[in-house]
Amino acid sequence: MHSYYNFRLLLLLPAAFFMIAALSANNFACAQAASAKPNFIIIFADDLGYGDLGCYGHPTIKTPHLDKMAAEGQKWTSFYVAANVCTPSRAALLTGRLPIRTGMYSDNRRVLFPDSDGGLGADEKTIAKVLKETGYSTAAIGKWHLGHLPQYLPTSHGFDSYYGIPYSNDMDRVNNMQAHEAILNPKIEYFQVPLMRNSEIIEKPADQNTITKRYTQEAVKFISGNKNKPFFLYLAHSLPHVPLFVSNDFKGKSKRGLYGDVVEEIDWSVGQILTALKKEGLDKNTYVVFTSDNGPWALFNEHGGSAGTLFGAKGTSYEGGVRVPAIFWAPGNIKPAVISDMGSTLDLLPTLSKMAGAKLSNDKVYDGYDLSSVLNDQKASPRNEMLYYHGTRIFAARKGDFKLYFYKNNPMGYPEKMEKLDTYQLFNLQHDPSEQYNILDKHPQVVKEIEEMVAKHVSTVERAESKLEKRIVNK
Ligand code: MG
Repeated sequence: MHSYYNFRLLLLLPAAFFMIAALSANNFACAQAASAKPNFIIIFADDLGYGDLGCYGHPTIKTPHLDKMAAEGQKWTSFYVAANVCTPSRAALLTGRLPIRTGMYSDNRRVLFPDSDGGLGADEKTIAKVLKETGYSTAAIGKWHLGHLPQYLPTSHGFDSYYGIPYSNDMDRVNNMQAHEAILNPKIEYFQVPLMRNSEIIEKPADQNTITKRYTQEAVKFISGNKNKPFFLYLAHSLPHVPLFVSNDFKGKSKRGLYGDVVEEIDWSVGQILTALKKEGLDKNTYVVFTSDNGPWALFNEHGGSAGTLFGAKGTSYEGGVRVPAIFWAPGNIKPAVISDMGSTLDLLPTLSKMAGAKLSNDKVYDGYDLSSVLNDQKASPRNEMLYYHGTRIFAARKGDFKLYFYKNNPMGYPEKMEKLDTYQLFNLQHDPSEQYNILDKHPQVVKEIEEMVAKHVSTVERAESKLEKRIVNK
């Protein structure tokens, strides 16, 4: 009897062991999932066009790191910014809200300048603020352009640290030099832009030849310094916005000339960041997003980029001004694909918040969608519409495949020639991404639906006072 029970116990032991092992493995996995919030890196290029990367069809610019990132992740082909120039576009990415709601718009001064007195309001919640509340380390590196006075800097908007040029790299021009002359023959001393660490100026003029390199070093340092806790890194390159500067390692290397050199250095930078993630063992739990703030600046000829197959440029709400490259990378989490559904930088705040388990406050209207089901499960995108604001005006609106224009403009962007259309124009962007064939007469129902969508939107928007028009007095 005794031995019989012993025998039964012996038989049960392995089963018990496996059960305990399975339970504790499960508990461990749960604990790990709960504690291992994903890290996020947003890499934001400035004025990089839809057609400027190898993986988006550029014939001569070589971008092997971004191409690999796109092949391993998702390449989005209908991804939009919320404005066609820097300041409002950046405000929309970081707040998930249309600039009309945050006051980061203007019909006069369309971006902030070194003599601007305004910036992103303290009541706005950036991605950094939202993530910081759930225990993230946060850093902003690069171009800010949401206000350079202390109360508007990244360190006042949820970022633990800041390193970068606080506005565009073509500002603070010496002796009122003509923009064209200074930009097409660029010298460091022509642009007296400051380089800042947190709220201190540490270099003036910033040596822009090494700026991409130095942003990258800071980024890699931040990644390895935060490998043991969740982090959010916002790396907003100052380039390839004109004036173009590049380090000696990349000078003269691209077949596309100086512009190509600059983009290839940014591609190198992406490679450094992905390598750092792998080295630290963080690549399986980090989402990296690469995109651009608006289309190419056509005004500067070869010093500006290319919108590829798209019509229009920076400063316009034609597709070339607002549709940008967008690559999402997170091996093992993101399902590799080319996504032609719509997405927007407005969607990053809700998407990252969801993945971090952060709650958004109810006191604000958000204009973004949570894209996590597209990224992680390749479901259809929840975004089916886009409003193309140009300052206070709605230049055009997209619903599904169709885009309806209410205005026209100089497709080069500058000088601006905004004009309300007497007869609207309608394009099917799936059939006609270059917007060549107006099909207004064929689809009266579509026109009606888009008009209704816009009217409904307009009736609910509370326009905030513009924060871009105030200037510093007695500077
Ligand atoms: Mg820009």
